[in-house]
Amino acid sequence: MMPSLQTIFAAAAGLAAAALATSATGHAATDLSSPDRALGASAAPARVVVVGLDAASWNVVRPLLDRGALPNLARLVERGAAGPLASYWPLRTPQVWTSVVTGKLPGQHRIWDHLSSTRYNPPPFRTAEKQRLTSRHRRSLALWQLLSRSGLRTFAVGWIESWPAERVPGVTMVAPIVSLDPRRQTTIKGSFFRDVEGQVQPRQLWPVARRLIVEPRDVSDLELKPYADVPPAGHPIRGLPHMEHNLKTLRWSVARSESVERLTLGLYDVARPDVLLFYFQCGDSLAHRFWIFQKEPEAIRRRLTHHGIDAAHAQELHDRFGGVVEACWRDQDTRIGRLLARTAGPETLVLVLSDHGFGDAPDPHPDPEEPYGGNHLDDGIVIAAGPAVKPGAWVKGISVLDITPTILHYLGLPYGADMRGSPALALFDEAWQRAHPPRSVATFEKKPQLKIPFAEGYPSRKDRPLASSR
Ligand SMILES: [Zn+2]
Repeated sequence: MMPSLQTIFAAAAGLAAAALATSATGHAATDLSSPDRALGASAAPARVVVVGLDAASWNVVRPLLDRGALPNLARLVERGAAGPLASYWPLRTPQVWTSVVTGKLPGQHRIWDHLSSTRYNPPPFRTAEKQRLTSRHRRSLALWQLLSRSGLRTFAVGWIESWPAERVPGVTMVAPIVSLDPRRQTTIKGSFFRDVEGQVQPRQLWPVARRLIVEPRDVSDLELKPYADVPPAGHPIRGLPHMEHNLKTLRWSVARSESVERLTLGLYDVARPDVLLFYFQCGDSLAHRFWIFQKEPEAIRRRLTHHGIDAAHAQELHDRFGGVVEACWRDQDTRIGRLLARTAGPETLVLVLSDHGFGDAPDPHPDPEEPYGGNHLDDGIVIAAGPAVKPGAWVKGISVLDITPTILHYLGLPYGADMRGSPALALFDEAWQRAHPPRSVATFEKKPQLKIPFAEGYPSRKDRPLASSR
């Protein structure tokens, strides 16, 4: 059973203060040790909070909002602007989340996938050997580096492809590691481990961060109850193909979400960010593994039969696992509520966004490894709420490439003309737009990144590399 949040935060506050006091007397490696930052004081709300929700999709979110299942997201939609968010083919998670924080295409930032050996890496970049793509492979500056140059502070928790955490002045980062150890890794979205270094910057926060990490083995069966009625060991359902692995993923997913919340709340006062980013993954990882069980038993039976899986348990599978995807969404909403209560104020711009959408897959599922899954859809979601945002607006035509230019513009900074997106002005009210004309500079890099290999996406879908809402 996981220790209570109160216990953990009391410990974290003390440890953080101790860690920073040590850094102040040792080498002043970062500006965390500057005397104007009173230890233990409660940090002000961030100016921008970016909530990354993997695979969030209006076809999933809208019905849940209508049923009152997502009260925190509902409040943001009510007071803010919302719309579809165009993504980039082939809708590959590391590519897109890196595009979100760079405003650049994969041909510019060079993060093609989690691993360098897969078919999503074009031949000149593909390696024969299985290697992690990490923050060191990124060839474009990330939002946190750009903000740092302007003296602004960033706190990023759980962001995809951010490992190892980068040491940048004013940046606090907790970066999940993609493990190549099959005993530890159940999905490739990155996990937090108490025994692996490189996940935290500034490094002196590691002893504190370590205490906040929840690993899958810390998650009790009771904590899985809101998601599923997990059958006991030896039950025939647990013998179905991929089922043990998928149940492991469920436990991993709860641990990862819990870690993101604890790390964000536990380190927020130390990070004191102008811009906060955090990321939740269950809308993707659990939907890849439990999607079909939401459907009527007939649809489940059909899917299983297509994959040559015994369909005798269709009704029971629906009863036990039909609520996994909704439970993920309710859980994310609850966590977002708690996180925003602590980190956002009335003056904060809150941006909720996803890397692509998610929906039904054909029978059989195109990926034989995912017999119970749905599939990626082109469009994700964007919700913006804050003082400058046009309330109640439904805004089309924004893409994942526009997010970094939009955040820079909102903070009064120019964006790079070699970024492939531009500020999403339609989110903001006319008076604010008039008072804040966008500015750009040629580039923030050493030289403009104008050559873009595989700009049509790889493997290409030439007709529509940038998905439908654009
Ligand atoms: Zn996915």
